[in-house]
Amino acid sequence: MNDTPKRHLLDLTTSELQVWCEARGEGKYRATQIRKWIFGKRVEAFDECHDVPAKLREALKAEFDLFRAEVIAHKVATDNTEKLLLSLPDKQLVECVLMRETKRRTICISTQVGCAMGCVFCASGLEGLKRNLTQGEILEQVLRLDRLITDPQERITNVVVMGIGEPLANLGNLIPVLETLNEKGGMGLGARRITVSTVGLPEKIRDFAKLDKAFNLAVSLHAPNDELRNKLVPVNDNIGIDQILAAADEYFEQSGRRVTYEYVLLSGVNDAPEHAQELGRLLKGRISHVNLIPMNEVEGLDFVEPTSPRTKEFVQILEQYGVPATVRKRKGADIDAACGQLRLKHEQQVTLDLPG
Ligand code: SAH
Repeated sequence: MNDTPKRHLLDLTTSELQVWCEARGEGKYRATQIRKWIFGKRVEAFDECHDVPAKLREALKAEFDLFRAEVIAHKVATDNTEKLLLSLPDKQLVECVLMRETKRRTICISTQVGCAMGCVFCASGLEGLKRNLTQGEILEQVLRLDRLITDPQERITNVVVMGIGEPLANLGNLIPVLETLNEKGGMGLGARRITVSTVGLPEKIRDFAKLDKAFNLAVSLHAPNDELRNKLVPVNDNIGIDQILAAADEYFEQSGRRVTYEYVLLSGVNDAPEHAQELGRLLKGRISHVNLIPMNEVEGLDFVEPTSPRTKEFVQILEQYGVPATVRKRKGADIDAACGQLRLKHEQQVTLDLPG
């Protein structure tokens, strides 16, 4: 018996798969064929890749796993948002979400197991960072969610990298994922339909800009000054808002894409009219957009969302400064669809179930 673990096919880029095909006496085009089945036709197994020669399919089966994770929870919300909790081969858990709007099918994917950033209101970082996800583990989330869409005419239209983890802290593995999402032989999604959300790591934002693509950048600001931001987003201590805005401005210049600033609204903490004014002054004149996120309550954390009139006032003040702002709609609230909540519950459950 051969007990060498198989490799994850999704860890290979197109050119690596081409090399593998050529080493087996096949043309490069076989790699494109295989990827078309996987990314475009929702196959579940190599045997379903009908125009790939049987011998090559056997070789694929012998050497690779197509899917690696086990779906341990699949939740469907009343608004048709679906969430998957995946268990990876090392038993680490990761979450991903499919959101449906009239025409849009947006998926939200994770890039790390846990998170090292320590934002005080976020469920994902409560137990720290376990590890980065591999390219294959990130792409598997995309494919699993894609396979929840049963209508052959319907496709994923947008991707937000806003799940568990700090995407720019795992940029090396994220870049080939973005390329596959964007590639014609991959998911074929325009860069403008893909958004990467970051806590704001200036050097990594510059590396991201070097890709020279029109990906959207969202920066999690959450406070209009360093004193407050240091409290809410502890990594800010070594960075500072000025550095982040400078890197984000460069991103806009390079990509031509308006940067989104995310701002979680925490009642009594960062939601006062003075905060809105300070934020307005900070962003005035920048081609940007503020996305206000009402706090999604997390068990064990005291933060709550503000009342609706207070949120409206915040939006109006920003508009007075010429800063467009929208309030994020809540999706899948009844299935713990916000970042890291389902994983956290399972982790806590597992801890409780342990003997002793
Ligand atoms: N690490 C990335 C992705 C985080 S998740 C980043 O910092 O941007 C996407 C957004 O949800 C971030 O702005 C994050 O700060 C925010 N968020 C995290 N926990 C939240 C909660 N409990 N309620 C509302 N927004 C939250």
